[in-house]
Amino acid sequence: MTVYSTEEKRILVSGGSGFIGSHLIDLLLSQGHEVLCVDNLFTGSKRNIDHLHDNPKFEFIRHDVTLPLYVEVDEIYNLACPASPIHYQHDPVKTTRTSVSGAINMLGLAKRMKCRIFQASTSEVYGDPEVHPQVEGYWGNVNPIGPRSCYDEGKRCAETLFFDYNRQHGIEIKVARIFNTYGPRMHQADGRVVSNFIVQALKGIPITIYGEGQQTRSFCYVDDLIDGFVRFMGTTPDVTGPINLGNPIEFTIRELAELVLEMTGSKSTLVTAPLPEDDPKQRQPDITMARKLLDWEPRVKLRQGLEKTISYFDELLSEEAR
Ligand code: NAD
Ligand code: UDP
Ligand code: UDP
Repeated sequence: MTVYSTEEKRILVSGGSGFIGSHLIDLLLSQGHEVLCVDNLFTGSKRNIDHLHDNPKFEFIRHDVTLPLYVEVDEIYNLACPASPIHYQHDPVKTTRTSVSGAINMLGLAKRMKCRIFQASTSEVYGDPEVHPQVEGYWGNVNPIGPRSCYDEGKRCAETLFFDYNRQHGIEIKVARIFNTYGPRMHQADGRVVSNFIVQALKGIPITIYGEGQQTRSFCYVDDLIDGFVRFMGTTPDVTGPINLGNPIEFTIRELAELVLEMTGSKSTLVTAPLPEDDPKQRQPDITMARKLLDWEPRVKLRQGLEKTISYFDELLSEEAR
């Protein structure tokens, strides 16, 4: 069973200036830990960690995880990787390299330090799933040569590396498969559905539904997700995962668009655009394992989470307009 550790640690978060990483750092600092944020600022932003620079327990290193890194730490969260299709398809070769070489370097560091390491894997390892909802035992339906493959296969290979370092070198690993997550500090222009719809609604421009909008996703608020990360990290060494972390409540993309319209009071119209290649039709996590092993489940309802995310983008857009 999980316990939040009270012992103060020096924790490395790779990808820490990104959306999820910056929230994780806030949580770890609030628990009294020291945090070393390692990020090359490809998709992350200094703005996400600006509020931390006067904190003596926080340190930032601008570094690319595809290169070796020799530091002293007690725990590692490996989040470095572009996550939205627009970003990971921008330089697909680099994306695979970040997942694979980045994992090797972070695992090598964990091996040298004899410390635990967490991997931010993804529901994309299930591809366009034929099993619904997705359980961890499902091996997935992934196209190895399509436009999403650099991300999907890179993350699959990273999982392989984590389990081989565990079997071969006895490294303590925690592999989480993260499902669609949203919240403040998402990128405004990364093309993900929640940020796109909110920004379009706030700007009063048409909301772009890809396909008929009948495809489904389950949206997890970022605070719930990182609570799951920390609980997972606190488990006994036999709990390696992979464990799904996400919100099991499923919505169609059209329902999401209508909810955003209602909550923003926007006059934006709904328009349809072509469905991207290999776009999964359905996605919903089975979180039985997380409930049992981490005593975890999401608490924030979509409406509550959207409210906070809408406020964030509202403020961001007003700042930009000034
Ligand atoms: P993000 O793009 O905001 O954060 C990724 C961070 O990694 C950025 O700060 C970026 O600059 C950094 N990065 C990228 N390549 C790097 C490199 N070579 N060296 C060092 N830093 C590098 O994305 P996010 O949504 O915060 O995702 C964080 C992690 O969670 C990613 O590994 C992603 O695959 C995973 N994930 C996210 C979601 C989601 O819904 N947001 C879903 C599944 C998995
Ligand atoms: N590595 C690193 N920091 C460390 C230890 C290792 O970045 O503190 C990198 C190093 O580049 C190495 C990789 O991790 O190539 C894998 O390390 P491992 O010890 O598993 O393998 P080896 O050193 O034999 O290649
Ligand atoms: N989507 C959409 N309009 C947008 C952006 C995305 O209809 O402006 C759809 C997209 O086709 C997919 C879903 O929303 O079916 C989620 O897309 P996102 O890129 O956020 O995440 P992923 O496909 O990786 O789950």
